[in-house]
Amino acid sequence: MLAMDYRGPRRVRAAQKPMPEIKHPQDAIVRVTRACICGSDLHLYNGNVPDTRVGTTFGHEFTGIVEEVGPEVTKVKVGDHVLVPFNVACGECHFCKQGMFGNCHESNTQASAVGGIFGYSHTAGGYNGGQAEYARVPYANVGPTVIPAGMDPDDAVLLTDVVPTGYQAAEMAGIQPGDTVVVFGAGPIGIMAARCAWLFGAGRVIVIDQVDYRLEFARNYAKCEAYNFNEMADPVVFIKKTTDFMGADVCIDAVGAEASGNAMQTITGRKLLLQAGSATAIHWAVNSVKKGGVVSIVGVYGPTDNLVPIGNVLNKGLTIRANQTSVKRLLPRLIEHVQNGIINPKALITHRIPLEEVADGYRIFSDKLDSCIKTVLISPSAKI
Ligand SMILES: [Zn+2]
Ligand SMILES: [Zn+2]
Repeated sequence: MLAMDYRGPRRVRAAQKPMPEIKHPQDAIVRVTRACICGSDLHLYNGNVPDTRVGTTFGHEFTGIVEEVGPEVTKVKVGDHVLVPFNVACGECHFCKQGMFGNCHESNTQASAVGGIFGYSHTAGGYNGGQAEYARVPYANVGPTVIPAGMDPDDAVLLTDVVPTGYQAAEMAGIQPGDTVVVFGAGPIGIMAARCAWLFGAGRVIVIDQVDYRLEFARNYAKCEAYNFNEMADPVVFIKKTTDFMGADVCIDAVGAEASGNAMQTITGRKLLLQAGSATAIHWAVNSVKKGGVVSIVGVYGPTDNLVPIGNVLNKGLTIRANQTSVKRLLPRLIEHVQNGIINPKALITHRIPLEEVADGYRIFSDKLDSCIKTVLISPSAKI
């Protein structure tokens, strides 16, 4: 089968690989119909995630038709069109039972923090992802969810990560009616977080980024204010001024370790590698939220960052909330929001690229070419 193949930093290609096989009685094999490239795939693509092995297939956002199931699979059957949450979760452990499907204790033997994630290096369990014609889906009674009749597969594929992650960012922020919410990052997750902030009763939503076409997209899609940090002396001062020097009620970090915009962070994190990436967005979030406010983090970071202003977290009495998204927990509500037209996920998709051209897909997305917001890869056997 054809699959995306990682060859080393900034080198990916489409290659022929063996078909995945059922390895466990609860596995399913799906024929992939849609697979997105995610902002967090760029951390892998750039070689910033430990133990990203040459020869692996990325892709944690995908939909597909069930082709084959193991003998213990009862919740999905051959022929079902399913969306597959990015978390690999057992559904039975202490954490899954609390709805913390992103922190499953069984699906990732390599780490004590994050659970398994499809196509996200051996630090997240070593599962091959869905940027391929076929994928093996473990714990098929837990994750894969039948796409409701009438739902566009383009909407469904964004329910595997972008919509729930944006929503959870807003949920973790504990937004109160009338709150001023600042979202750092105008990628698909930041845009979705801004959209979802309104659902929790925000009174004002501000997005900060440096890519003008994405700021424009955020303004239109999320009906928010959006500003370019390169056009302001200091985003922290800007936010203080625009909130009567109180600070934002809530700040959401939807950027993560690839952030730019702060020289010290860039030098120590991205050039000298003294810390695991650049913590610019956390820095700005902590310093621009009001005393007693909440910082909600969904941007992806490595295990350590040294330049996080933890003293300010203490002195301002902040609450920091962060987690990998628990997709399965949120799906029932979010499927309803999509069906009722409250959230329109597919509007984020700007590019549809054949799987054969996956290298171009990564380059366009990574370099923010051609006004790219979200890229979907279509495999030759998608047929839908
Ligand atoms: Zn993703
Ligand atoms: Zn579990």
